[in-house]
Amino acid sequence: MQLRHLQRLLAAEPALRHAKSADEHAARSRRVRAVVERLARVERAPLVIAESTVSARDGLHHERLLFESPVRGSFHGTLLAPPDTAPGPPGPAVLVLGGKNARLDQLTGDVPPDHPDRNVAEHLARAGFVTLSFDHGIGGAMDAARRAGRDEGALLAHAFALTGRSLLGALTGDALGALDVLAAHPLVDARRVGLFGHSLGAAVALHTALLTERRGIPLCAASHVGSYPALYERLLTGYEGAVLPGILEYADLPDLYGALAPAPLQLQYGTADSYLEPADARAAADSVRETYAAVGAEAEIHGLPMGHGTHVGHAADFFTRTLPEPTLSAAPPPAAGAEVPAQRIHFEVSDRRAVLDRVDAALASGILTQGPQVARFEELARPWTGADTAAVASGSAALEIALRIIGVAERTVLVPVNTFFATAAAAVRAGAAVRFVDIELDGLGMDPDALRAALDRHPDTAAVLPVHIGGIVSPALEEVLAHCRDRGVPVVEDAAHALGATLDGRPAGSFGRFGAFSFFPTKVAVSGEGGLVCAPSADDLEQVRRWRDHGKSAQGSTLHDRPGGNWRLSELHAAVGTVDLERFSGTLAARRALAARYDALLAEVPGVRPHTVPEAAGSNFYKYLVYLDPDGPLDRPLLKKRLRERHGVSLAGEVYDHLLCDHPHFASQRQQGAGEGPFERARWFARHHVALPLYPSLTEAEQIRVAAALRSELP
Ligand SMILES: *Cc1c(COP(=O)(O)O)cnc(C)c1O
Repeated sequence: MQLRHLQRLLAAEPALRHAKSADEHAARSRRVRAVVERLARVERAPLVIAESTVSARDGLHHERLLFESPVRGSFHGTLLAPPDTAPGPPGPAVLVLGGKNARLDQLTGDVPPDHPDRNVAEHLARAGFVTLSFDHGIGGAMDAARRAGRDEGALLAHAFALTGRSLLGALTGDALGALDVLAAHPLVDARRVGLFGHSLGAAVALHTALLTERRGIPLCAASHVGSYPALYERLLTGYEGAVLPGILEYADLPDLYGALAPAPLQLQYGTADSYLEPADARAAADSVRETYAAVGAEAEIHGLPMGHGTHVGHAADFFTRTLPEPTLSAAPPPAAGAEVPAQRIHFEVSDRRAVLDRVDAALASGILTQGPQVARFEELARPWTGADTAAVASGSAALEIALRIIGVAERTVLVPVNTFFATAAAAVRAGAAVRFVDIELDGLGMDPDALRAALDRHPDTAAVLPVHIGGIVSPALEEVLAHCRDRGVPVVEDAAHALGATLDGRPAGSFGRFGAFSFFPTKVAVSGEGGLVCAPSADDLEQVRRWRDHGKSAQGSTLHDRPGGNWRLSELHAAVGTVDLERFSGTLAARRALAARYDALLAEVPGVRPHTVPEAAGSNFYKYLVYLDPDGPLDRPLLKKRLRERHGVSLAGEVYDHLLCDHPHFASQRQQGAGEGPFERARWFARHHVALPLYPSLTEAEQIRVAAALRSELP
């Protein structure tokens, strides 16, 4: 009964059956890698060498290493190098990954191997390669009495499954870290590094090859070819720790190997391997061969008269052929994180699992919008807004709803001339005439004197919209609020940049009648799409809930008393938003620490001047703003191009490079006599600032690179 169920489960055709044509190959390969990346849920963490003991053994250079990883804690590895390598030019190297039952000291030949080919690392070292092997952490650690004859690897794999992770993903994470350690070793030429794996180790090596940034890395995989349905259903020899849960929906084992094409690949299998069915192994190997042929490459396949072993001679030959002397044309593989992108939206594996779990809960309950996730999102935002909140579909919706409640139609709304288009567009959609106000250069807020003049000019002003540019709540806001209070004009804060920012300890969004926030992916907290209105008045907030839901006169009513819209936030977006808000205090602390480090680094760089955040403002550093020397010879587009092309550094977007009055939509209106300005301060700001990359996953090394890149491109 259940066996038939198993057969049915494994009979499904994988969605990413590997391409047999060169045209399709690249796209298919990318999709396979993306799926593997997602399902492996690798927690990438750099391995640190905590201890290293160097000795010589039978002529081999021998380093006993103790790794320290934030994910796994400490574990052992051994690096072997051929005789007489040190000192000498760096040479080729292989990361050697043993099978489930392989012991580290047997792989390296430190103790006599229990199987003649088990000491692969030693063989390869004697054949001229630096090798690194590490302890998988399977075998030998569990109390034999408690284990009661059960397989330790199976118990471990089950425990990983129980926590929604996979053992293979964890092992692959270790291997990716070890690969970096190996490539960085002084005896190793980072352009000549390969992967070897046997059995479970081959599964790890395959997934490591798929996930490493070192595209094209040669891989030798022994005793691991076949098809998942045969291994797991017909033969029942498949080990659950060697597969990614869910992978067969997308790709079978030959599809994963095929995705590596045209990277050098050697597959070895034994025709007397009791874990394999030779016919199945051959068919799988043929499929890989075909994929390679489709891109004009060759997969080297050896069906050998051996059991579940390794032919070390073939392996050594393979690496000798694929890791030759580096030629000048051999481009070094890009080091991990070679680019500093403008932005990196990063969810840790545990965060991704939490999002998926909440999405699953929404799907299972059938409540897809305006349910418990949205309620929780509103509650989680509360500490950061200083007033109660109502979630809406976007930051623009938040602004428009606030303005509709105030009632701005046919009247004037004053907006800073330096803001995102959405600030003004919301007022236009709410029926207002927008007029612009210059900014002040201390906190980048609305200039109070310019605002007073605008209020004098436009006595019909219905609302004023200060914007907290870059996450700075300007100290000038107090005076802005005072002018508005004097005239009885309500204030809507566009706090799209400013979640978590404060002025004199008071949160952005809590100063006006309404605060509007955005959770668009570029902002400091994200939900995919999303927005939030906060308001101290319970009645105002109830109005927000009516407007966002098609203007229903009461919740659940079928009568509508205003032209509301669909401005609701879905449960699925709230699932993302709640997870991001739960980690938001960490986000904020990280952003502030990064900004402080930029301050220190840039003190040494002539030609740039960081914007000084006013004392009273607690910026969230949505943007880290820097002014270019106004007399410097470079213009901004050229600087950005050079930083990108010469240094791999992408600057973040400006806030903003065009004044609103210069956008075509408003420029045409200006000609109709609305001409105000000349907005000299805003114009100066728009022209002279840049925004450095800043996001919680930015590393110190990346910040140093950004500073060095600026120094080298600026006089
Ligand atoms: C992002 C942004 C908005 C609009 O938010 P959406 O969620 O994209 O609608 C409004 N104002 C400012 C200043 C913004 O940066």
